[in-house]
Amino acid sequence: MQVFALSVLLLQYPVRHVFLPATPPYINTLAPIRWDKDSAMNIVDAARFLIAIVATLLLSAAAGAETIYLTAETLIDPVDGKRISNPVVEIEGDRIVKVTANGSVPASATRIDLAGKTILPGLADMHTHLTWYASDAGYNGLSVSYTDEAIRGVVNARKTLMAGFTVARNLGAGGFADVALRDAINDDRIPGPRLQVAGPSLGITGGHCDNNLLPKEYDAVADGVADGPWEVRKKVRDNKKYGADVIKFCATGGVMSKGTAVGARQYTLEEMKAIVDEAHTQGMTVAAHAHGTEGILFAIKAGVDSVEHSSLIDEEGLDLAIENGTFLSINLYTTEYILAEGVKNGVLPESMEKAAYIHELRRANFSRAVKAGAKMVYSTDSAVYPHGDNAVQFSRMVDLGMAPMQAIQAATVVAAELLRWEGDTGAIAPGYYADIIAVEGDPLDDISVLEKVEFVMKGGVVYKNETN
Ligand SMILES: [Zn+2]
Repeated sequence: MQVFALSVLLLQYPVRHVFLPATPPYINTLAPIRWDKDSAMNIVDAARFLIAIVATLLLSAAAGAETIYLTAETLIDPVDGKRISNPVVEIEGDRIVKVTANGSVPASATRIDLAGKTILPGLADMHTHLTWYASDAGYNGLSVSYTDEAIRGVVNARKTLMAGFTVARNLGAGGFADVALRDAINDDRIPGPRLQVAGPSLGITGGHCDNNLLPKEYDAVADGVADGPWEVRKKVRDNKKYGADVIKFCATGGVMSKGTAVGARQYTLEEMKAIVDEAHTQGMTVAAHAHGTEGILFAIKAGVDSVEHSSLIDEEGLDLAIENGTFLSINLYTTEYILAEGVKNGVLPESMEKAAYIHELRRANFSRAVKAGAKMVYSTDSAVYPHGDNAVQFSRMVDLGMAPMQAIQAATVVAAELLRWEGDTGAIAPGYYADIIAVEGDPLDDISVLEKVEFVMKGGVVYKNETN
């Protein structure tokens, strides 16, 4: 029991920090070894050096050899769309090495027993803004600096991970705060999901991705503003240079911005094609913010990888998305939240009107997209509503016609395809990262149980365990 308690304690921290400091401290503390035969310190130094080497090797061997056995009542496998009873998941380091049904666990093994629980792959949210709070809406946002964004990111990344989301795409942040956030998470300095980040979103002058809140004399221009095919190419190159993984651009007006018509197209087809060509050439994917019908159609024609929001998508857009394999990334819960809580958060009166206008239209189009068989990913636009509540959208998706398994697939295997992380995330299977969550009950019977994730493991490290 003590050994188990110690293991759990150690698992609170990234394994390589516990066992393998980047530079072994015992070597750092050694003075340079002087091979001077007259010095009495030589033998002592040599002995210390040897002890350090042996200790490092022993600790490395111990770390490398450890296998964790994770057991539960049920495993949900989104790849094959089925349940597995009494699963045994074997984990070495940050990866899963074996999954068996009704398997056995060696008596002396390190075991995490999630008896009575259902385990699933860690979830993925394909549209977040981790560097903003819900209360940063409208004029409140003007007081948020890039430094503030970085700190908000640390707070929100943790909340998102603890809610069971081990993967997220951050589609838009100021000052490349999301790049710094991703890197700090990857270096195990702070807890958070695996991130793909966009940096500043590209947008036209005065468009949804510009800052239109202040009069001319303030000269407020958002980071990602670029007009014309060559300016947008340069902006894509800039974002690549400073660490973005994905390009986000605003194809149409939006709900939360001042002075933009939610249905109106903003970039031309020529500009969108330039963005997509440049991003794809640089090995990046492209996400288009698009509510309006024409903007959605142009974005798909330009070859974007995902259309965000997709509120007013028509038959032609839907057919073309299916034909091209374009992912639809539809956030359903945001308007519900804005209509209830928006005024308190500083949402502009015109944004309240726009939210009311698209609310039912988008819900209807979501149902049409599900029926038509479009590729759909789980996508919340969290920051419009509070981080950590990412999973509340599942129940809305199921209410509007998605099967519970399909909703889980949207947040796992289908998301991994959009991220180009197939084989790494989105499944509990050999070779994948050990990103595993657990809930009480069966999400295929009641999807809302995903709102109460009790256990979170990411890369073989346990970040949360409230299963008792
Ligand atoms: Zn967004």
